[in-house]
Amino acid sequence: MSDSNRVLIIGGGPVGALAGYSLARRGIPVIVFDRLAEPARDHRAATLQPSTLDLFAPIGLVDKVIERGLVSSHFQWRDGETDAIVAEFDHGCLADVSAHPFVVQLEQHKTIQIILEAAEKLPDFTVLRPVDVMAVRQSADRVEADIRDTDGRVTTHTGTYMLGCDGGRSIVRHATSVTFEGFTWEERFNVLTTKTDFAAIKNFRYRNYCAHPTRWAAVFKVPGDDGLGLWRAVFPARAEETDAQVMSDGWIHDRFDEFLPGRPEIKVEHRNMYAVHQRVAGSFREGRFILAGDAAHINNPLGGMGMNSGFQDALNAADKLEMIWNGAAPEPLLDLYDRQRRLTALEFVQAQSIANKKTLEENDREARQVGLDRMRRTAEDPVACHAFLMRSSLIAMVQRAEEIA
Ligand SMILES: Cc1cc2nc3c(=O)[nH]c(=O)nc-3n(C[C@H](O)[C@H](O)[C@H](O)COP(=O)(O)OP(=O)(O)OC[C@H]3O[C@@H](n4cnc5c(N)ncnc54)[C@H](O)[C@@H]3O)c2cc1C
Repeated sequence: MSDSNRVLIIGGGPVGALAGYSLARRGIPVIVFDRLAEPARDHRAATLQPSTLDLFAPIGLVDKVIERGLVSSHFQWRDGETDAIVAEFDHGCLADVSAHPFVVQLEQHKTIQIILEAAEKLPDFTVLRPVDVMAVRQSADRVEADIRDTDGRVTTHTGTYMLGCDGGRSIVRHATSVTFEGFTWEERFNVLTTKTDFAAIKNFRYRNYCAHPTRWAAVFKVPGDDGLGLWRAVFPARAEETDAQVMSDGWIHDRFDEFLPGRPEIKVEHRNMYAVHQRVAGSFREGRFILAGDAAHINNPLGGMGMNSGFQDALNAADKLEMIWNGAAPEPLLDLYDRQRRLTALEFVQAQSIANKKTLEENDREARQVGLDRMRRTAEDPVACHAFLMRSSLIAMVQRAEEIA
């Protein structure tokens, strides 16, 4: 086998790591390139959905994820004005379709670490980091990536296919004619972490959404570095508020004061601000370049779907590449990847994450009540609740993709 008979994976975030692991397990040589010396420890994905746990089980990843994470069967919707619990959803009702009718709360960098620990045992898996991918190219029969290492040396790596798993600003996508249409929300999301136990104060579950006309909040628990638990609160920053204001102690104090009135000062461990977008690539494939994860689609994080759907991309692309690699299928099979993943990204992740945000922030009193009443009725009706959780857990997304020919 020639040195260039391999798949180049640009980006070793959760999606690139999983794509690399999945391909190497099938005996397909991969090199994953990432500019970071180790996975970023910022406060992004926290929730692994039942659909992901089901996909992780047969590839030997689920036990470690459950062991290191927090298992949570329920999530809450609250009326942030009255603090009433409007709806509690119980993933337990998915036991008829999932071997994992619960979510696992685990920091993104720990999930990546679990994937890499498994991948690095495989002879066909190589990760190069920290290296910057400077440029990528493709021709009729190969792909190339120019890599700069920390000494400034530039080398060119070749392969037969390239997976662009390099996030929202993907250099791979930029090297194609593929569009990235959609929009950016006016607000940014400020993610604050604290060791203060919100469950003890407010009877929260590990995932909670508090609807409010101006100051909604999403609140989650993750294990934290000491395993004792770290709570994350996500608050919206209005367009007219500057970054400096939003990151200031005063702004943060005011948000917690509104959210938990009368409580002693909350000690904040981390603060991270994110711009929030809804965009989907016009195609998930151009020639030998395949886009996956945030390189192909980005969405607001309400509902915990971006990384989870990216994992589905990674495994779907690996299935197709394996068949092409082994001569069991012609290359146009990659067009099926595009159809399956692009359509479902629109139908599930974009639709649900936008709906979640609108319900959370609705400021028209009547419309707000309608939205919350709908949530309450959905949670109370077993059939409606099952259908809602099939969508929100992205199990229906996996099923829908399989139907697309
Ligand atoms: C606040 C917040 C909360 C979230 N919560 C959830 C959640 O609970 N559940 C969920 O499913 N999703 C969630 N998400 C979304 C999730 O974080 C993303 O969907 C996920 O990180 C996408 O993974 P990825 O591997 O596609 O891209 P990324 O995580 O962006 O990884 C891309 C990698 O590529 C590397 N890279 C990029 N360009 C280059 C280059 N030129 N050279 C070398 N390396 C490069 C980067 O260093 C990085 O490691 C959340 C996002 C935010 C902002």
